[in-house]
Amino acid sequence: KRMAHKVEKTFKFVIVGGGIAGVTCVEQVKIRARTSNPSSFSFVIFEKVSKVLEEFDVEERPSSVLEEKFPNLMVIHSAVKSLHTQSHSVETADGRVFGYEKLCICSGGRPKLLTQENPYVLGIRDTDSAQELQKRLSKAKRIVVVGNGGIALELVYEVEGCEVIWAVKDKAIGNTFFDAGAAQFLIPSLEADKPERAAPCKRPRYTTEEPAAGASQTFTAGLHLGVYLIFSYPAVESAPGSSLGSWPVYIQLTNGKTFGCEFVVSATGVVPNTEPFLHGNNFALADDGGLRVDDHMMTSELDVYAAGDVCTACWEHSPLWQQMRLWTQARQMGWYAGRCMAAHVLSEPIELDFCFELFSHITKFFNYKVVLLGKFNGQGLGPDHELLVRCTKGREYVKVVLSGGRMVGVVLIGETDLEETFENLILNQMDLTPYGEELLNPNIDIEDYFD
Ligand code: FAD
Repeated sequence: KRMAHKVEKTFKFVIVGGGIAGVTCVEQVKIRARTSNPSSFSFVIFEKVSKVLEEFDVEERPSSVLEEKFPNLMVIHSAVKSLHTQSHSVETADGRVFGYEKLCICSGGRPKLLTQENPYVLGIRDTDSAQELQKRLSKAKRIVVVGNGGIALELVYEVEGCEVIWAVKDKAIGNTFFDAGAAQFLIPSLEADKPERAAPCKRPRYTTEEPAAGASQTFTAGLHLGVYLIFSYPAVESAPGSSLGSWPVYIQLTNGKTFGCEFVVSATGVVPNTEPFLHGNNFALADDGGLRVDDHMMTSELDVYAAGDVCTACWEHSPLWQQMRLWTQARQMGWYAGRCMAAHVLSEPIELDFCFELFSHITKFFNYKVVLLGKFNGQGLGPDHELLVRCTKGREYVKVVLSGGRMVGVVLIGETDLEETFENLILNQMDLTPYGEELLNPNIDIEDYFD
């Protein structure tokens, strides 16, 4: 039946998804292919939302910008509904069929929701859902935020004028990024007034709760360990048991506490968007549900590549790199996938890009600059690694992870000015044993020292 659909047009390169990975991928294929016979290369991006995202400046731009920039690029505003790897074709939601020579799946991920189809449980994925959240926040008196990654961190810090209950199942906040020490450093920022704001609204209140038995001692106010059972009562005046008050939805945590709130924000990570591509094909999937890709961003299906949140990097990683579903990595993967696709078409050799040597991520949490390098949380290291920490309350937190005397990871919070020097020390793997704790001595100008 499938074969009955007529292939409308065959493109040399087909990209599914106009997020950061997809757009970067197209750009790279274009740049690489230009040197050969450009007119023989045709491209198409499929994007299910009506505006194509170009997230370089994390802003949304109309697809015409892309099309202008790249004359033989077509943007088709339709979701890809299915993929037929045998016949090298994709079918769109509105029933059109297009052929490809090389395909790159860049369909991203969607929020992992605590529970599906509950109107009181929100996930944030894009600007639309963020706007929806903002709208609902303006009327809310209390919300519960579930999750412990970057989105949850940002949210609990940014929300004002509304009580926030933050449900965290790990031993420390921001577990995806930090250890308990860094978390401890950051917690006072939640209670402090934010800088440079006139603060017309009240600061959020963070309810105080004793940590559950067995929880880390470093755990403090405002956080509720454990999560997850959401039940809503249909429009009842007062909830059963009723010291809880009357709320649209109640959330029960695994520590036995129940809270009512206006809505729950589920910020517990993403699930790779793989469904439309799986049926009838033979993709190898990773444990996290991503499409497995090798060191050329190739999936297990012939001529199908993948990049960004939808894929799982399954090559043998450099000892200083790990995959995290972040936009910097989506861009790097899109970039590299594009180069690989072009190289394969042109029969040129290509090696794994240098950006996969060292994990690095720069962000802002609680208004502090945060730099993460390498195995910043000792990920995957044996018990023999060492930590050096320097912390000045309210100003900076510096943590260095050493393994066999060599620097393998770093967490820098605040304006430490150490990132460049430390990046070099990680990359050159110099034996730092002779320096010992002096490495973090604030009275030594380390930059000068290793110059
Ligand atoms: P996406 O950006 O998700 O793009 C995928 C695109 O594919 C979408 O446009 C989608 O519409 C389209 N698509 C999906 N399925 C189909 C289909 N079947 N057919 C056609 N099109 C399809 N990372 C950071 O590094 N720093 C941050 O501060 C940060 N903040 C974040 C805040 C939020 C609220 C969220 C949700 C994520 C954040 N991230 C952040 C993560 C970052 O946004 C992602 O890692 C990155 O966007 C992944 O890029 P991508 O191109 O793989 O996927």
